[in-house]
Amino acid sequence: MLPTIDEYPARYQYRFCPLDATLLVRGLVHDCERLYCPQCGWVWYPLPQIAATVIIEYQGGIVLAQRALPPDAGIWHLPIGHVEFGETPEAAAIREAAEETGLIVGDLRFLTYEVSPSYADPRMPYIVFGFVGCAIGGTLHPTAESTAVQVVPLADLPPLKWSSQQKTLAAYRAGG
Ligand SMILES: [Zn+2]
Repeated sequence: MLPTIDEYPARYQYRFCPLDATLLVRGLVHDCERLYCPQCGWVWYPLPQIAATVIIEYQGGIVLAQRALPPDAGIWHLPIGHVEFGETPEAAAIREAAEETGLIVGDLRFLTYEVSPSYADPRMPYIVFGFVGCAIGGTLHPTAESTAVQVVPLADLPPLKWSSQQKTLAAYRAGG
C-alpha cells in the first residue's frame, strides 16, 4: 500500500503546481489518489530520498567522521549524503567522502542497500546505497561537515547509530 496524500511528509504536501502556480487538486491517477494540476495536468508522484554511504579503508582501519550538522550532530559515522540529481550513487559516495573527510576514494564496490524512514522525518522514506572503497588521494582532515575525523581498526569500531550504516558494515564484515 502506498502512503495516502495525508501521510506524505510535510515537505511533500504541495499546494500549488510548480509549473504554473495553480492550486493542486486531489484525484485518481493510475489507480491512486494523487495531487495534480487541473490547469496543465502536472501530477505529483512523490519519490523516496536517495543517499549513499561508504566504508573507506585507510591506513589499516576505517575512516569515521564526527557529524557537524543536525540531526544527530556529534555522532561518529561513515561518510554519507544525498545522491544529487544527475549523479550516480557511486559518484555521490565519492563526493560525500571528499566533503566529509578530505580523502579521494577509489575502487568502489557495492555492498548492500537499505530502505528505511528518515530519522529526522519518519514519514520520509530513504533508499541508502552502501559501498566500500579505499583512499587513493587527498588528505584526511576535518571539514565544514565534520568537526573531527579518525581512523579506527575494524575490530574496534564503535556502534554506528544509523541502520543503513549498520547494514553496510554487516555486509562488509560478512565479506559482501
Ligand atoms: Zn500546472
